[in-house]
Amino acid sequence: MFSKRGNNIFSTVTFRLTLWYSILLAALSLSVFVLVYIWMAISLQRNLDKVLLDDAKEFRLIYERDGIDSLKKEFQLEATCEGVKRVFFRMFSPQMEVLATSDMEHWKDIGSPPATLKSFSSNKELLTAVSMPGYEHKVRVIYEKTADGNIIEAGHTLRDNDALMTRYRQTFGWGVLGILALGSIVGWSLADRAMSGVKRVTQTAVSIANEGNLIHRVPVGNEGREIRNLALAFNNMLERIQSLVSELREVTDNIAHDLRSPITRIRGVAETTLTSNEKLDTYREMTATIIEECDRLVGMINTMLEITETQAGAANFEVAPVDIIKIVKDAHELFQPVAEDKNVTLELDVQNGVKTVLVPGDAVKLQRAMANLLDNAVKYTDYGGKVTVSVEQMQTQAKISVSDTGPGIDEKDITRIFDRFYRADTSRSTAGNGLGLSLAHAIVRAHKGKIVVESTPGKGSTFTIILPCISDTN
Ligand code: ADP
Repeated sequence: MFSKRGNNIFSTVTFRLTLWYSILLAALSLSVFVLVYIWMAISLQRNLDKVLLDDAKEFRLIYERDGIDSLKKEFQLEATCEGVKRVFFRMFSPQMEVLATSDMEHWKDIGSPPATLKSFSSNKELLTAVSMPGYEHKVRVIYEKTADGNIIEAGHTLRDNDALMTRYRQTFGWGVLGILALGSIVGWSLADRAMSGVKRVTQTAVSIANEGNLIHRVPVGNEGREIRNLALAFNNMLERIQSLVSELREVTDNIAHDLRSPITRIRGVAETTLTSNEKLDTYREMTATIIEECDRLVGMINTMLEITETQAGAANFEVAPVDIIKIVKDAHELFQPVAEDKNVTLELDVQNGVKTVLVPGDAVKLQRAMANLLDNAVKYTDYGGKVTVSVEQMQTQAKISVSDTGPGIDEKDITRIFDRFYRADTSRSTAGNGLGLSLAHAIVRAHKGKIVVESTPGKGSTFTIILPCISDTN
């Protein structure tokens, strides 16, 4: 069912999410690294420049105040304190003759100051970085001019700064690797957890497909609202499919059952016709019975089709203003002879003063729904009982009720009587196919109305149709 490509770990959402987390984390870490690196490099250089500047100013002050000998001592002292391999100091005449130096053993190859220095003005300092041959690190150097034109030079190795930056690079590199590894593990487990709900849905779907059993449901976890909603929606869908399938099975069973009886009867009559040697009138009678049974079958099949079409909204509806009072009166008139035959009183009760109640709809379909309710009421009401049909208008709604003094409907049956082919056990002795109420229900629903039933077993039932009406026409 699933392709090989689907089993590849690289094609999973979990892997892709983890990859995205990791790429994002790496990009973020790299940006932080670059920013901190630049900031550190600038800060370190600034600090060093400040130290050099302070040294140069101090040397100039000592030279101008106490003379060259004091400066020489200060050069030695300062270099010893800071480390002769880390710093050096020199003073040049305007002709670039060395006038004073600190210990230059380590700085033999540092070279002379640049020639451009001759032209640079006093009270200004010049900062630059120079390389010393054979020495790995650069040297930061400051030049300061004294009042008499001499030049003080102070140099400081950048070795410490370079070491610090190297250590930072290494520490950050390992740190980022650690964060990336941890981030990927956490990302993977989070994505895997989020996807576990989807996996459960897939597993359930696969189990249903393999076993063909709709009993399976997705366990609802707590990975998050979306996953929870997916599981609930999937379960609801399964619930619906399961009930539709069982409804379909029941309908199929009922159809099979309901078709079998008339077909068996037709076959029986046909067999008798074939095998017996009767008079012509008897054959005519038998053929009439066959036709009657066939009509019943065709009627049943047509009703089933009509229900399906009406429910699917595919039925041909002639929508026009329909006078409900006229429909009810016609139906009352139509069923009067049937009621009289059973000695059932059929009463019509139209709301006082109301002449017309207009409903947008199909007159023929509404007549059909009305006829089904009246047919049932008369059919299930015993000899001497009473059936009342009433119509009233309630603001924007038309209300049509059919009440009878029949046997009523049991509580266990009341929720099912609108199902196709459903017949209460007590009604099995009465003719019918269990499709009348389904059709009435489908027609009323197609007219955006509703049909409700109230019943007291042993006392009678009232079926009420409520339809939206056009406006107050009286
Ligand atoms: P049927 O052809 O059996 O009348 P319907 O769909 O019209 O089919 O009705 C479904 C079932 O509802 C009936 O079999 C009967 O059990 C019950 N029923 C319908 N109307 C009434 C009523 N007025 N009084 C009692 N039971 C009724």
